[in-house]
Amino acid sequence: MSVAVPVQAESRNCTFPNKISRIFLLALNDVLGDNNMLAVLNTARLPRLVEEFPPANFEPGLTFEEVVDLFEALESIYGQRGGRKVAHQAGQACFKYGIEGFGGLIGFADFFLRILPVGMRVRIGLEVLREIFNRYSDQHIAVGEGESAYVFVSEQCGMCWQRHADGPVCALMAGLLEETLYWISRGQRFAIEETACIARGDPNCTFYIQKTPTSSQ
Ligand SMILES: [Zn+2]
Repeated sequence: MSVAVPVQAESRNCTFPNKISRIFLLALNDVLGDNNMLAVLNTARLPRLVEEFPPANFEPGLTFEEVVDLFEALESIYGQRGGRKVAHQAGQACFKYGIEGFGGLIGFADFFLRILPVGMRVRIGLEVLREIFNRYSDQHIAVGEGESAYVFVSEQCGMCWQRHADGPVCALMAGLLEETLYWISRGQRFAIEETACIARGDPNCTFYIQKTPTSSQ
């Protein structure tokens, strides 16, 4: 598939809306607990979030820089590996808050989802996530499909904005994908790997999602 050249060098502030920012923060707080969350917010130099998280509206919320500050704070406190593990878990935890916040987009599908084959349900799950990010944030996502895998491509990524790293760093998105597909497939797990990351110098952040589940309940 063809993807656009990333436009990470834009000067205006790219943001996630308050509603999505709030979901990120609630999920991270779930994983860390209040005290550790406080340490992360202070390390990330985001004291305004110590008092309260953003409201659940669509006004501009966290900038991409601030989201990256959070991930860098996680890695400085827990180490690179530990920090990315926390980000991955936070991504998983985002799902339940996402369902609360964006349930309308998904709820309609619940009845139809039951009668669809699992592959189609997975594709719908990916499309719904794409739609949410593209419609409400400056994160640009494309979804594609090969013979054995789906691809979920962040052409403009707010999770590694202007970061430089040796390997893929967008662990929160991987966690969110994992949990979304677990739910939509009714209990199956899919191998998800970020095979390209803008932080590593790649043209986009690409997540490969194997079509054959690794396990099921
Ligand atoms: Zn990335």
